[in-house]
Amino acid sequence: MFSSSDIGIDLGTANILVYTKSKGIILNEPSVVALDTKTGKVLAIGEDAKAMIGKTPASIRVVRPLKDGVIADFNVTTDLLRMVMQKAAKQLGGAYRKPNVMICTPSGATSVERRAILDAVKQSGAKSVHLIEEPVAAAIGADLPVSEPIASVIVDIGGGTTEVGIISFGGVVSSNTVKVAGDRMDDDIVQYVRKHFNVLIGEITAEKIKKEIGYALIPHKAESMEVRGRDIMTGLPKTVTLTSTEIQETLKEPLLAILECIRATLENCPAELSGDIVDQGVVITGGGALLKGMQQWLSQEISVPVHMAPEPLESVAIGTGRSLVMMSKLDKISK
Ligand code: ADP
Ligand code: MG
Repeated sequence: MFSSSDIGIDLGTANILVYTKSKGIILNEPSVVALDTKTGKVLAIGEDAKAMIGKTPASIRVVRPLKDGVIADFNVTTDLLRMVMQKAAKQLGGAYRKPNVMICTPSGATSVERRAILDAVKQSGAKSVHLIEEPVAAAIGADLPVSEPIASVIVDIGGGTTEVGIISFGGVVSSNTVKVAGDRMDDDIVQYVRKHFNVLIGEITAEKIKKEIGYALIPHKAESMEVRGRDIMTGLPKTVTLTSTEIQETLKEPLLAILECIRATLENCPAELSGDIVDQGVVITGGGALLKGMQQWLSQEISVPVHMAPEPLESVAIGTGRSLVMMSKLDKISK
């Protein structure tokens, strides 16, 4: 039976989210963990840990265990999952019973890692645990007609990876992944500022720049932004002014890599499904879809319509939760 405490988890490379049917998104935190360097004990996760990035003394280490779309630090990933399960249980309060869990892992996770993730969730008090493929969850969460014989194309631009999937009849017909997404954009901004201004900025600052004055490759009214970093020559703090035009130039390479991945998937689409794709178009989701001008730029570059998912940062989490409901209707959940 489907219980109101059943949960869907999106274990993303940048953000981890928990969704329940009754309460919607009950947890949404950066996939970041702060550890005590000596004991390895978890000091903080999520927003609290992210606030420490680049500011900690030697006794604290802040890590992103899922960086680059793969599980970089498996033990820390399971620590993070356990803490998230505990937080979710607290959120659900009295309504909490042992939940059935649907979880979406980064597609770069190996089968051994997936198995271990299932075990970790189970040990954290789940009644049953199921895995869902990322493009399927994203498509369900973006309201696409996945269970019908109509092909849907979903493009999920996350932190570590961009995943492009063609879904039909509830399954993935073809998919492509490229390890270029939001994080690469941030890295490229850090490199640009270092090269052109001899100033070092942190990844959090770079992300802010991207969100505020970053544009996909569309014409726009130029904007500027002042940022502070450390002068590499003098070691002293320094303020530099960046323009949206130079940031756009910096983002060109990662954007073209993302476009290439989308084109390759569309070109390899089975002929029978091409007609659907021309009609239905492509849906973009993931935090990277929110880059200013992304939808407009992609529409110009590919010859099919491009739509934005209703909640790009939440599609996968919503999809995991909904798929659990769909499964329980089919009565497939092991009792
Ligand atoms: P993941 O699924 O890998 O955890 P998300 O879908 O949560 O990733 O997206 C996180 C990425 O989206 C980050 O790189 C973040 O900087 C980027 N992002 C979030 N909001 C915006 C925005 N408004 N403009 C550009 N990028 C954004
Ligand atoms: Mg994601």
